[in-house]
Amino acid sequence: MEVASVEAIPLRRDLGERFANAQKWIDSREYCLVRIEADDGRVGWGECWGPTAGNRELVEEYVAPFLRGRDPRDVERIHDDLVYELRSSYHSYVPASVVSGVDIALWDLYGKAVGVPVSTLLGGRRRDRVRAYATGHFWGEVEDFEELRTDVVEEAEGHVAAGFDALKNKIGLARHFGWDAEKDVELVRAIREAVGDDVRLMTDANHAYDLADARRVAEELAALDVYFFEEPVPPRNVEHYAALNDAVEVPLAGGECWAFQHEFDRVLDAGAVGYVQPDVTSAGGITSTRRVATMADAANVQCLPHVFGSAVALAASLQVLATIPGGPMLEFDRTPNPIRESLAVDPVTNDGNEVPIPDAPGLGVEIDRDVLAEFRVDV
Ligand SMILES: [Mg+2]
Repeated sequence: MEVASVEAIPLRRDLGERFANAQKWIDSREYCLVRIEADDGRVGWGECWGPTAGNRELVEEYVAPFLRGRDPRDVERIHDDLVYELRSSYHSYVPASVVSGVDIALWDLYGKAVGVPVSTLLGGRRRDRVRAYATGHFWGEVEDFEELRTDVVEEAEGHVAAGFDALKNKIGLARHFGWDAEKDVELVRAIREAVGDDVRLMTDANHAYDLADARRVAEELAALDVYFFEEPVPPRNVEHYAALNDAVEVPLAGGECWAFQHEFDRVLDAGAVGYVQPDVTSAGGITSTRRVATMADAANVQCLPHVFGSAVALAASLQVLATIPGGPMLEFDRTPNPIRESLAVDPVTNDGNEVPIPDAPGLGVEIDRDVLAEFRVDV
């Protein structure tokens, strides 16, 4: 079995209303899918994190010639070879998103070739369903804080009504709105009061704070029984994570901005987080995410993958989640997203507070070709 062709497929849909987290306004959904076809006609799908620009050129002009003729079943070796090649070619810039998209597509192809789900290839499924937490609670264009708080609380109540008993919201309002960290805490308190004490509540600052503010906010979050505090400070400050994680009662979470086993080794070695969150589309694919999950297990830290992508990223994340030791949760993005919702022939949906994990060969996702054509931007 050999790789015959490698294609990058850019998808995009502008959103009617933009929304924000602590760092940026999001006005479109944009994905670079990777389609790898083998010489027997089988096809594997992957997905790169981030904008299509950059990912697309690297997949088609750099990775395709590198990959043609290689056996997709050598996926883990190819992952490492590709990282070495990219390191040598780009020095300080190793595009982890490109490695990720290619790696996911190869695992899909491998699973389809041998007729088993990727989770089986990774060593076996520990579960067929996984608890899901509803992620969302982004911010729209609002007149004042009261309007924002009302919108976010209504959204939270909707997720609980839909069966979820775990939610994650966004904090770090200062950059876009100029409101101080007290307002962030007020937002979490409003959600807690609306959904009650039985809902697991998590909060994500997208590295909005300096160390002092992060510590003050963390103390308030602990009083609100917040399950974890995600990305309180910039990802470069691993030592700040470690100091904070030691000092405060609420456990820290982080990982979406780190890639490959060597970065996570530093994080786990430092005791930087209580929960580690690699993303399959940016940490180095299924190969790296599985390695991080193994390293986390050895460090007695729960791995809770970060998930925020199309139906391909969701399917790949579910295959890894089937294999993670302990009690992992799926981060289940509930923000309106036409590409995520319609790209799969059978979209993944929640059944109460859980999501079933597909067991079809490969990633277990079938791409709707009409939908793909509808969102494709290069044809
Ligand atoms: Mg996050």
